[in-house]
Amino acid sequence: MPQVLIVEDDDKIRTSLVRALTDHGHAVSSAHTAMSGLRQAVEDRPDVVVLDLGLPDLDGREVLRMLRAVSRVPVIVATARDDEEEIVRVLDAGADDYLIKPFGAAQLEARIRAVLRRATEQEASPSLVIGDLTVTPRAREAVLAGVTLDLSPREFDLLHYLAARHGEVVTKRDLLTDVWRVPYGGADKTVDVHLSWLRRKLGETAQQPRYLHTVRGVGVKLVDPGR
Ligand code: CA
Repeated sequence: MPQVLIVEDDDKIRTSLVRALTDHGHAVSSAHTAMSGLRQAVEDRPDVVVLDLGLPDLDGREVLRMLRAVSRVPVIVATARDDEEEIVRVLDAGADDYLIKPFGAAQLEARIRAVLRRATEQEASPSLVIGDLTVTPRAREAVLAGVTLDLSPREFDLLHYLAARHGEVVTKRDLLTDVWRVPYGGADKTVDVHLSWLRRKLGETAQQPRYLHTVRGVGVKLVDPGR
């Protein structure tokens, strides 16, 4: 039975979500401030956290950053803001998925199932070795020539996604859909920015690529530079 922590300051929303998820067999705990939510996330070790971005005591992205510093628990953010840039920023800050308010319990349950499935898949997926690069999803760790790379959650996901498809061209659309889980266009710049950060951390440039090769007008591919 998956344990769900709901962090939401609106009493009506929190109560109805807790009731609906409990009725569907989840073990549910809840918090109405960011600080109590963070404490419960650490102490109770839930399987998934549903985090309202509009909390009274801390900005949602700040909460995510603090949570990500201590935990890899899957986080679904709930936001009233249907603003693509804000959603992308939140996903970049380490959220796994998002829901735009108002949403129903059935929709939330579907997202919970999806993030839990992805987390389980990642736990089970093997390390990938491409040249001097080793990507270990279980530990969320990437090592290049013996040096552990300092990657943000999104950079790790991006690298893992490309490494799992090494030698294949991946489009920006694929990356947005599968890594950011943004179902619409217009956020290409985010992909470009993250690819350039990743390049820098891999110690290469777009002009002199080793692992990450841009395929103009199509996308990007990760290759073994020694082959
Ligand atoms: Ca709120």
